[in-house]
Amino acid sequence: MYSKIIILHFPAEVAQKALVCQLTIKFDLMFNILNARISNRKEGFMVLELSSATRSGFNQGVKFLKDQGVEVSNPEQQIFKDEEICTHCGACTAVCPTEALYIKRPEMEVIFNKDKCSVCELCILTCPTRAMGLFSKNTEEVI
Ligand code: SF4
Ligand code: SF4
Repeated sequence: MYSKIIILHFPAEVAQKALVCQLTIKFDLMFNILNARISNRKEGFMVLELSSATRSGFNQGVKFLKDQGVEVSNPEQQIFKDEEICTHCGACTAVCPTEALYIKRPEMEVIFNKDKCSVCELCILTCPTRAMGLFSKNTEEVI
């Protein structure tokens, strides 16, 4: 099983289309919506855990979304951890629901595993030093 968390930005023109459901119908993909919202400009934002039996099936699904005008990016292009500011206090690890932030022992270093991040933004609200942040919209290639 190939599985990955991806970020989708839907321009207003396509935000009302049921494109994500078509991933299952057309490409036999499974998805789990981790976060979703719509802006006051009617643009959509969604964090999706997308799973496929094969890597090529996953890639076909992502290509389909892009062909429909959806911008697809990776979580690490949205959430960043500033290593120069982080004091490794561990506060963010207590709120991170996916264990994307965890304490490496015995070094007691707080590590950010981008592959597990669901972009819930709880760490940003929690971090006392503002080491966790959000990049603006980015459309670098996922596949
Ligand atoms: S809460 Fe902020 S300062 Fe503390 S470990 Fe997490 S990122 Fe570092
Ligand atoms: S945004 Fe922060 S708290 Fe949420 S899953 Fe990602 S690293 Fe964890």
